Amino acid sequence: YNFAMFIDEDPLSHHVAVKNITSLKKKLDGKVAIVTGGASGIGEATARHFANHGARAVVIADIQDEKGQLVAASIGAHRSTYIRCDVSDENQVKLLVDSTVQTYGRLDIMFSNAGIINDINQSILELDFSAFDRLFAVNVRGMAACVKHAALAMVEGGVRGSIVCTASSVATILPLTATPIHTDYIMSKHAVLGLVRSASARLGEYGIRVNCVSPSGVATPLACNTLKMTAEEVAKTMEPKIYLKGVVLTTSHVADAVVFLACDDSEFITGHNLVVDGGFLPR
Ligand code: NAD
Repeated sequence: YNFAMFIDEDPLSHHVAVKNITSLKKKLDGKVAIVTGGASGIGEATARHFANHGARAVVIADIQDEKGQLVAASIGAHRSTYIRCDVSDENQVKLLVDSTVQTYGRLDIMFSNAGIINDINQSILELDFSAFDRLFAVNVRGMAACVKHAALAMVEGGVRGSIVCTASSVATILPLTATPIHTDYIMSKHAVLGLVRSASARLGEYGIRVNCVSPSGVATPLACNTLKMTAEEVAKTMEPKIYLKGVVLTTSHVADAVVFLACDDSEFITGHNLVVDGGFLPR
């Protein structure tokens, strides 16, 4: 096919050619990102994806120091650092964001992902409110603190940034939202959807986008420990429950969705919940 002829004959094709050249640029070239819960599971995979897609700096925030430092070191000392941050403490979240901006000059992406789960068998009848309060402090207050301080830094720096939170299919897919067990966790993930909708409405005027991803069961330490299953057993349990056959949900699939929401490919998408579940069967 004669590409030169194509350019000559069609005035629009010049735009196509230029687009082809710019698409060689990596999706997150030059971006500075924070990943909370970056020491493990979905956060770790996403931190690596951010780096692979050209991010200039990826700050790993977690409370598992050794694992977090290892992830940062494996990405490379020149582009990744570990900062200890318990997201349930607003002061620590503010320090995390401030020190990121101080070190790297700006903040473009916040992946607010850190989360915990309590005893999966607890229904409303067994609810333990001290465990409930801790879960809400991390999954709800922590998420909100990360969105707030990332947004403040972006507004102050004039950055049209992207904030992505991790919700869950337990807040999205009917048979899961109405599951009688882990009531506190289901409630907390519904709160994340509310946070994303409300924050995106407030931050749109600054060009800051706020979205979330909702994965179904993916074999991470959180899922395996909670379900008391190996990664293979988690995959086997999920398989009959989803439409899409021949593929098992991995942290990498979730990370791909986060990269999409973090980069300019989704520049007109905000307040959205991107479900990554292979199509959960309605039962
Ligand atoms: P994970 O346990 O592998 O990773 C969670 C990370 O968050 C850990 O490194 C942990 O140390 C960190 N963390 C916990 N409390 C923290 C705190 N107070 N401050 C900072 N970091 C803290 O689990 P994961 O499955 O990768 O979970 C990531 C997110 O995905 C969570 O929000 C979880 O609710 C959500 N999610 C997981 C699944 C799943 O099936 N694995 C499905 C839907 C949603």
